[in-house]
Amino acid sequence: MTNAASPPPAQKGGSVQSSYLHHYACFRCRKSFKRASRTEAVLPCPECGGPSIGLTRKFKPPKRSDEKQWRKVEALVRHGFLFWSLNEPYPETLKEVAAFAQRHAAFIAAERAKNPEAYREIDAALSPSG
Ligand SMILES: [Zn+2]
Repeated sequence: MTNAASPPPAQKGGSVQSSYLHHYACFRCRKSFKRASRTEAVLPCPECGGPSIGLTRKFKPPKRSDEKQWRKVEALVRHGFLFWSLNEPYPETLKEVAAFAQRHAAFIAAERAKNPEAYREIDAALSPSG
């Protein structure tokens, strides 16, 4: 039998399946950027130079025009949620965020205790003066 194997598809430099990419969300631009790894808690947004927050692969960025959804995402991140899988779906609307945060307060406290420096960067990035 001849070797019928077709050549592998050409690989672009640094191309990674999008499901393996992490999102960095910029709340000023209401945009997210993909990076191959989430080694930094906060990176400068390539668009505006402001802070963008590293979120998990679970994060699905809303449309840029969907200001309400972006406000909800920002509220979640301010509470400390970086879009890990939890035992319930993430809230659909901004007004559900407070109760959601309360239900997972212990989890968030543990995450903050584990990653104090990352959360310091995130909190600073989201502070109004910053
Ligand atoms: Zn930006």
